[in-house]
Amino acid sequence: MANVFEKIVAGEIPCQKVLENSQFLAFHDINPKAPVHVLVIPKVCVKDFNAASPELLAQMSGFILEVVEKLGIKESGYRLITNVGSDGGQEVPHLHFHILGGAKLAWPKLF
Ligand code: 5GP
Repeated sequence: MANVFEKIVAGEIPCQKVLENSQFLAFHDINPKAPVHVLVIPKVCVKDFNAASPELLAQMSGFILEVVEKLGIKESGYRLITNVGSDGGQEVPHLHFHILGGAKLAWPKLF
């Protein structure tokens, strides 16, 4: 069964789009953890960072830089996170980077 991000790519679930090209989509997280909380996903189904090819990640990096530029946080700063697997707290099994910014972010103890 398709996961929630595959449904967003297919247009079956709406999203607040930030930027899109033929390979990637950026949209606002439904449950923001910071004033700016945007998710970046590849349109092809890749489970997680472990399964992503270096080529895909290189292209995704370029797209993420376009997104932070568009969000106006490239110079003020941001945090880029990708959760992997059970210990990483990954909920959706489709590679995604969280872009968090818009405020000075805390760096809490995580375990
Ligand atoms: P993970 O825990 O897998 O790294 O992050 C999944 C993220 O997807 C969470 O931050 C969650 O709020 C977000 N999310 C889950 N379902 C939806 C949805 O239907 N729409 C949007 N925009 N975000 C979602």
